[in-house]
Amino acid sequence: MTIPAFRFDNTYKRALPGMWLAVDPVPAPAPKALVLNHALAQELGVALGEDAAAVLSGASLPEGAEPIAQAYAGHQFGGFSPQLGDGRAHLLGEVIDTKGRRRDIALKGSGRTPFSRGGDGKAAVGPMLREYLLGEAMHALGIPTTRALAVVATGEDVWRETALPGAVLTRVAASHVRVGTFQFFAARGEVEKLRALADYTIARHYPECATADNPYVALFQAVTGAQARLIAGWMGVGFIHGVMNTDNMALSGETIDYGPCAFMEAYAAGTVFSSIDHGGRYAYANQPLILGWNLARLAEALLPLFDADGDRAVDIANGLLEGIAGRYRAEWLAVMRAKLGLVGVEDGDADLADGLLAAMEGQGADWTLTFRRLAAAVADDGAVLPLFADAGPMRAWLGRWRARLSDGAEARLLAANPAVIARNHQVEAALAAATGGDMAPFHALLAAVTEPFVEREAFMLPAPSGFGRYVTYCGT
Ligand code: AMP
Ligand code: MG
Ligand code: MG
Repeated sequence: MTIPAFRFDNTYKRALPGMWLAVDPVPAPAPKALVLNHALAQELGVALGEDAAAVLSGASLPEGAEPIAQAYAGHQFGGFSPQLGDGRAHLLGEVIDTKGRRRDIALKGSGRTPFSRGGDGKAAVGPMLREYLLGEAMHALGIPTTRALAVVATGEDVWRETALPGAVLTRVAASHVRVGTFQFFAARGEVEKLRALADYTIARHYPECATADNPYVALFQAVTGAQARLIAGWMGVGFIHGVMNTDNMALSGETIDYGPCAFMEAYAAGTVFSSIDHGGRYAYANQPLILGWNLARLAEALLPLFDADGDRAVDIANGLLEGIAGRYRAEWLAVMRAKLGLVGVEDGDADLADGLLAAMEGQGADWTLTFRRLAAAVADDGAVLPLFADAGPMRAWLGRWRARLSDGAEARLLAANPAVIARNHQVEAALAAATGGDMAPFHALLAAVTEPFVEREAFMLPAPSGFGRYVTYCGT
C-alpha cells in the first residue's frame, strides 16, 4: 500500500530569493509520535503512516521538501530586534489542501539554524504539546489559527534549567509571513524585496487587492480587517496570547506562536499570565491596543510602497491608522452580539456589552461559565449570580439584557458560547503527565477541547482555589 505523501509546491522559496536560508533539520535520534492529527492530515490530503514520526521530526526528509529558515525582524515588548528569523524552525514547503488552500508545513524544535543566536534550536515536549492542544482548541472554537499536525518526541533531552524530553511540532499555517517579515526588509532599506514580499502576500492571501488603485493600501486594509476579526475572536473566548510581538502577528490573520498564552478564567481586564510580561503590555484588555500598535509598525514598514515619491506616504498611513480602532470595535461588537444572543443591531448594544464587562470586573466571575450560563439566565437569575462576588450590578444588567432579547435566545446563546475551554489546571496536569510519559490525560483533554460546545462536566470548571495564581512561560 502506498501512503499519500505531501505534494509540495514551494512558492516562497521560488518567489522570494534573499528572504530565507536553505538549512536542513537536525535529525532526531529516536523519533516517536506522541500525537498525530489525522483529521488535519486528511484536510491536507496526506495519510500519516509508519514513517510519520521520522518525517515529522526531521529525521527523514519527505520527497519534495526544500527546508528553509525564514528571515524576519520584530518588536519584542516594544523594542526592535532587526534580526530574529527562524531560530528553531524549518519550513519544509507548501501544499495545496483538499479545499484548494495553500498551506505551509513547518517543523518547530528541529534544530539550529543561522538565526538561532544563543538558542539550542530545540523544544521540549510540554510546550509543543501545549501548542498542539491550544491550537486545536482555538480551531474548534472557530478562531483562525495555525494548527499542529503532530508532536514527535525526539528521544533526546533538552536542557531547560533541568533536563526535559525533547520534541518537534509540525505546524500547518496559511503562511508564516509576519509583520516582522516586512520589518526585516524595511529596516534594511531593501525596498525591492519589500515590494516582492508585499506582492507575494497579496497574491497568496488577498488576491483581490492586486487590482485596487493602490494594492499596498488595500493590503494594509485587508490585514487590518483580518487581524481585527482575529483579536475580537480572542476577546470573545477570553484568550490571552501573551506575546503579541510583531514577529508573532501573521499577515494571514491566523493566531500564531503559542507560547505563554492561556484562557482567562475569572474576568479581569488586566489579566496577565506570562512570567515576563511585568508591565502588562499584553494583558487581556490591552490586546486591541497592541493590535493597533503592531499595525502601525506594519504601516511604517510599508511606507515606501504606499507612495513611491514619498511625499504622501505618511498622510496615507495616518489615514489608515485612524481606521483601526473603529474597525476593531465593529468586529468586537459583532462577537459580543452573538455571545449575548442578540439579533439585529440596536443603538444600545455597545452599552449593553460594555455594561456586562463593568458588572463582571473584579467579581471573580468565570468568563466562559458566565456566558455559557446566560442561556439558563434568560429565565433565571440564579443561573449566573452565584458566580459573582457582589450580585447587585449583574442583577441589574440581566434586567436590561432581557429587555433586548427576542425569541429563540437560549438556543443562540448555547450555540455561541462554549462550555469547554482549555482550563489552565487541566492543561498543566496533562502536560506534566505527558512529560512523565503518560499521554492519557492529554488525549482526554484534547477530546474535550475539540468539542467545546459539548458539556462535559469534568472539563467545565475553573481551577480550584488551591491552584493559585497561574503563571506561564515563553514556550521553549
Ligand atoms: P518567540 O518568542 O517564540 O516568538 O521566538 C522569538 C525568536 O527566538 C524566534 O526567532 C525564534 O526562532 C527564536 N527562538 C526561540 N527559542 C529558540 C531556541 N530554543 N533556539 C533557537 N532559537 C529560538
Ligand atoms: Mg515567534
Ligand atoms: Mg514562540
